Amino acid sequence: MMLLDGKIASQAVKESLKTTVHQLLMDGKPAPHLAAILVGTNGASETYVASKVKNCEEIGFRSSLIRMEESIEEALLLDKIYELNNDAAIDGILVQLPLPKHISEAKVIEAINPAKDVDGFHPISVGKLVQGLETFIPATPYGIMLMLEHFNIETKGKHAVVIGRSNIVGRPMSILLSSNLKHGNCTVTLCHSHTPNLKEICLQGDIIIAALGRPEFVKADMVKEGAVVIDVGITRVEDPTAKKGFRIKGDVAFDEVSTKASAITPVPGGVGLMTIAGLLKNTLQAYGLKAEGLGQKA
Ligand code: NAD
Repeated sequence: MMLLDGKIASQAVKESLKTTVHQLLMDGKPAPHLAAILVGTNGASETYVASKVKNCEEIGFRSSLIRMEESIEEALLLDKIYELNNDAAIDGILVQLPLPKHISEAKVIEAINPAKDVDGFHPISVGKLVQGLETFIPATPYGIMLMLEHFNIETKGKHAVVIGRSNIVGRPMSILLSSNLKHGNCTVTLCHSHTPNLKEICLQGDIIIAALGRPEFVKADMVKEGAVVIDVGITRVEDPTAKKGFRIKGDVAFDEVSTKASAITPVPGGVGLMTIAGLLKNTLQAYGLKAEGLGQKA
C-alpha cells in the first residue's frame, strides 16, 4: 500500500513556487499577493484561513487577512470585494466559506473579479472548467489532481467513483477526472445522498474520492482490492481525551480500508495540505493574469 502523503506532495509544489517567487524578487518584481476575507469567528474557518496565510508567508507570497464582524451587512462585504477588485496590488481574493446566513454566498462569489477568483467558485470559472478552458480550478480538486500527478497515479480508462456533489469538491472533481487531461480520462460515477446502491458502485471503483463529510463512512467492504482511495473529509469529532477536545476524522475508515487499497491518503496530512498547494498555484496564476493586463477587467 502506498501512502499518498500530502506533506511530501505539497512540499514539492511549494518548493517550486518558492523558486518562482525568488526569481520574481530578483527581477525587481513584487511577490504575488493574496487577500483573504474572514467573516465571524468560526473555529474551523479561523484554522483554514490562518493556514492559508501562513503558507503564503512560507513561500514568500504577500497576504492580507481582512476580518469582518459576524453581523456585517452584505452590502459592506460586497463593497470590500469591489475595493479589492480594483486594488492593483492584490492578485487573488478569497472569501472563506461558510458565510453567516444573512449573507448570500452566491452574490459574494459573483462579486469577485473572475481574474482574481483564486477559489475558482465564480460561475465564469466554473463554466470555463466545464468547457476545458484555462481557468482557476477550485483548490481542493486541484490539489487532488496535483497529488495524483505527484504520485504518478494512472487514471486513464479507470472508473472513478466520486461521493459528494458539492460545488467546491465533488462536482468539479468529477469534471476534472472525466476531462481529457493527463490525470483525467476516467469514466466517472458521481454519487450523492440520493444514490441508492452506493456500496455496489463503490465496489466497482478503481479510484474512490470520498467527499461527503461523514466520518469513517467508507468501510473496507465498500472498496475493491487495489483501489486508490482519496479521503477529502474533515470532520471535528468530539473527544474529551484530545488536547483541543476534538479529533479530525476523514470520510474513510483508514485502518481497515488501507488493508485493501493500493494507495490511500491520510487525514490529516493528505488532501487538506494539497488544497493549500492548489490555492497557492491559483494565486500565482492570478498574478500572471494581472501581468498580462487582465487582472483589472471586470
Ligand atoms: P457538502 O456538505 O457541501 O456536500 C456533501 C455531499 O455529500 C453532498 O453532495 C451530499 O449529497 C453528499 N452526501 C451526504 N451524505 C451522503 C451519503 N450518505 N451518501 C452519499 N452522498 C452523501 O460538503 P463539502 O463542502 O463538499 O465537503 C465534504 C467534506 O470534505 C467535508 O467533511 C468537508 O469538511 C471536507 N472538505 C475538505 C477539504 C480539504 O481541504 N480537505 C476541502 C473542502 C471540504
